Amino acid sequence: MEQQCLQCNKSFKGRSDKKFCSADCKNSYHSQHRKNTRTEVEEIDGYLHRNREILALLMGDGVKDTIERSVLVRAKFRWEYCTGIYKNKENKIYYIVYDYAWMEFTEQKILIVRKWKKA
Ligand SMILES: [Zn+2]
Repeated sequence: MEQQCLQCNKSFKGRSDKKFCSADCKNSYHSQHRKNTRTEVEEIDGYLHRNREILALLMGDGVKDTIERSVLVRAKFRWEYCTGIYKNKENKIYYIVYDYAWMEFTEQKILIVRKWKKA
């Protein structure tokens, strides 16, 4: 049966479940895939670390503080990335970023909590 190699696109003869013309092609295909996965993961890890850094810089030694939303916007805080979500009894949602958490206190103010442990 004639098929096409997933890596080099060359035609080759082999069983219908074979996807590659050679072991080399198979290996390069899989290592490329792993590399892509790593890059995606690293990118998001970077956003999360950066978010934590921004919160850490703003909080300093404080444990709980409210901060203007615009300050976080200016620091290019990535709102959509967090490591967890916690909803308290008043249905307020805390977005956890490692050992920090933030919450929309008002439209303008963001509450930040350090040493977050619930979750
Ligand atoms: Zn090939």
